[in-house]
Amino acid sequence: MRAWWRRLTTAHGALAPIDDRAWQALLASSALFDRLDAAARTRLRKLGARFLARKRFSAAAGHDLDDAQRLAIAALASLPILHLDERWLDGWREVIVYPGEFRVRRTHHDEVSGVVTEGDDELIGEAWEHGPLVLSWADVATDLAHPFDGFNVVVHEIAHKLDMLEGAADGVPRLPARITRREWITTMQAAFDRLTVVVERGRDSLIDPYAAESADEFFAVVSELHFSDPALLERAEPAVAKLLRRYYDAAAST
Ligand SMILES: [Zn+2]
Repeated sequence: MRAWWRRLTTAHGALAPIDDRAWQALLASSALFDRLDAAARTRLRKLGARFLARKRFSAAAGHDLDDAQRLAIAALASLPILHLDERWLDGWREVIVYPGEFRVRRTHHDEVSGVVTEGDDELIGEAWEHGPLVLSWADVATDLAHPFDGFNVVVHEIAHKLDMLEGAADGVPRLPARITRREWITTMQAAFDRLTVVVERGRDSLIDPYAAESADEFFAVVSELHFSDPALLERAEPAVAKLLRRYYDAAAST
């Protein structure tokens, strides 16, 4: 197996660049990357190399994980921080890849009743605070094949990772200087409240009703829309669409 990007550092500590043929193959594999200009592609490639050098990938449930899949995951995970700080994906190390949906046992502790309940969940992605990023490869592959259908599991989980940089996930990720905490909370809370009302009344919503589960899921779901169906987000919540453009798309220097 070729391993041209695995923890390859030079004597100077610089990251080994991603093999050109592998990079071009990734760019050609999904229309998702067509939207990036040359400068953004160059930065994504550097961020992807950094991700590959710093994360430890492991395959679960007999998945056949190869270098092209690692590279795709690294690029997708780096997409949200294209205009943020590269260190914002630090602080955790492990990426676990299942072939498809995976089952986890959930324990829920109800603070009011004190009752602990357990159940199995089928997941396509999961992000732990300081812990692993867990993904279903089948769903990552679907996102690459259909990048503008409103879903992107890697972006969703990385949004949780950015959220958890500031402690337990609460829908407020680490923010660049260009965005204040107050404007973030005001904009997102108003939109979350609107969605909650729509979902509680059983009406159809443009945004996936799953986003009404909690403020942190709302942020993760609208982040998916930002990258995979921005026109829908603009129709549903223009203020959120604008805020996320400033968060994810603004030039790093502003
Ligand atoms: Zn989530």
